[in-house]
Amino acid sequence: MANKMKLPSMIRDIASSIFKKPFTREYPAVRVEVPEGFRGRHILDPEKCISCGLCERDCPSKAIELVEVSGKRMPMFYLDRCIFCYQCAESCPRDAIRLSTVFELSTTDKEGLLVKPEEFIPQQPVTTKE
Ligand code: SF4
Ligand code: SF4
Repeated sequence: MANKMKLPSMIRDIASSIFKKPFTREYPAVRVEVPEGFRGRHILDPEKCISCGLCERDCPSKAIELVEVSGKRMPMFYLDRCIFCYQCAESCPRDAIRLSTVFELSTTDKEGLLVKPEEFIPQQPVTTKE
């Protein structure tokens, strides 16, 4: 009986919503715009890094390890532990860690959740002896 009484208002709601735009988006076909200041996957500037280790020291999740790449110790990020607080960027005295808007991080490969410093170092062209 209670359901019958609600029927007219239900029909009214359906009629008023039928021509409205949907609130949902057809992601991933329709790209999502992330807001300014969004904390996505880290970007490291190896040129600016001075190997001070403050990012590693201050990370509350122990998600940073300094690793040696090209003769210099730089942070490697473990995104599976990261809480995207960006304390690392705050602590860095050289602004070597920046935010990105990359948020599509799901993977079945744990290795894919590592942000390694070498990915930010431009590859030198390979020279071969004639
Ligand atoms: S964003 Fe936060 S949790 Fe993630 S690596 Fe930086 S300091 Fe650690
Ligand atoms: S805090 Fe900045 S300069 Fe220091 S090791 Fe981390 S990224 Fe490099």
